[in-house]
Amino acid sequence: MIPALGRLIICLLFLGSVSGVVLAQESAAQSTVSVIKAGKLLDVDSGRVLSNQTIVIKNGKIEAIGDQPSVPPGATVIDLSKFTVLPGLIDCHTHLADVYDPEPLHVLQKTSAELAYEVIPNARVTLLGGFTTVRDVGTYRAFNDVALRDAIARGDVIGPRMFVAGAYVTISQGAGAMTGLSPDIQLPWDLHYGEANSPWEVRQRIRELAHRGADHIKVLATGAVLTHGSNPKSVEFTPEELQAAVDEARNFGLRVAAHAHAAEGIKNAIRAGVASVEHATLIDDEGIALAKQHGTYLDMDIYDEECIQEAGRQNREPADFLEHDRELGELHRRNFTKALRAGVKMSFGTDAGVCPYGINARQFAFMVKYGMTPMQAIQAATSSAADLLGKSDVLGSIQPGKYADIIAVSGDPLTDVRVLEHVIFVMKEGRVYKDER
Ligand SMILES: [Zn+2]
Repeated sequence: MIPALGRLIICLLFLGSVSGVVLAQESAAQSTVSVIKAGKLLDVDSGRVLSNQTIVIKNGKIEAIGDQPSVPPGATVIDLSKFTVLPGLIDCHTHLADVYDPEPLHVLQKTSAELAYEVIPNARVTLLGGFTTVRDVGTYRAFNDVALRDAIARGDVIGPRMFVAGAYVTISQGAGAMTGLSPDIQLPWDLHYGEANSPWEVRQRIRELAHRGADHIKVLATGAVLTHGSNPKSVEFTPEELQAAVDEARNFGLRVAAHAHAAEGIKNAIRAGVASVEHATLIDDEGIALAKQHGTYLDMDIYDEECIQEAGRQNREPADFLEHDRELGELHRRNFTKALRAGVKMSFGTDAGVCPYGINARQFAFMVKYGMTPMQAIQAATSSAADLLGKSDVLGSIQPGKYADIIAVSGDPLTDVRVLEHVIFVMKEGRVYKDER
């Protein structure tokens, strides 16, 4: 038994060591305070450009912003007074956990470990391109995206903050399946994980994906361009299956992104209550009206047609994919303009992986060419993207309380949106990853 005085001394020693830890943490936190002096700053919430703003950043979040906020002594000052500062960009349609290769069957030539290491540069170039967050919408090797997200969050891999789908939820031999194989080939579990063929199978898949860490659910409502044996004009999941997907995802607090090219499949997905329609290639007037009525985002990847055609010229694109793609590219872009004019909510999604990684920002010029103002295109990749993710409280603009995800460019992106293709400064959660001032 310890005498009373002894207990008191032990107690004081213990308290002393605990407060020592707290003090050490506090001084570490103080050293993470930094200040950005922004010459011009895009306020994407108001759509205005502000001059000579100072942003105070503490512990990875924005503490204050204004003309003359109080600056804590000892803060690191980052002088971006010659540049335009804007929130970190968000791509709502990426496939970072796959490789850039027009032939999906090449995945079969790699072990899952080889694939996992090969995708590491995808994450790095995306972040250094100014995209501090991505909504990743599926991978052929189930859960490679979950592993990549977590490796980035731990700091083991440099990349954007990822929100991931875990796998494609698709019908057998559907748009999200590994197709083009002889029927006697048995795929390993992770290459056909998301296949489901009834409302209850869809629910089962979603329950398992939610359990294993998916941030949202990706369903394939129609055929695809870049899948063997697929027809982008065909309807795949039925309205009942899509409804089951949305309902089950909601039970776990998850939103649904639906791949859809064909007009009927787009409408099925919107009526079921998905958060976004991906591609929305052949959306018709009724689909546009439904999207507006339901507040559904359209995530239209109108740049990647350039990459499909370029791979075709180099004889790298499978011939059946080029056949699927014929005439869709221009129609897609015209429908983007129609939906935009109708006032449908639009987010920025590139389908990165169809194009080489890291060039996501090239889509801005196409969004402007097909009708957006530069500010609208930037909002699609910031405030609107954060809204689609359900993360407007912490992402999408430079406001107190949000993550310090901040980038900078030379020149004025509102007069030439292509300056976003050459980001000179990237900060994610208060940490600088690129500084080419
Ligand atoms: Zn995609």
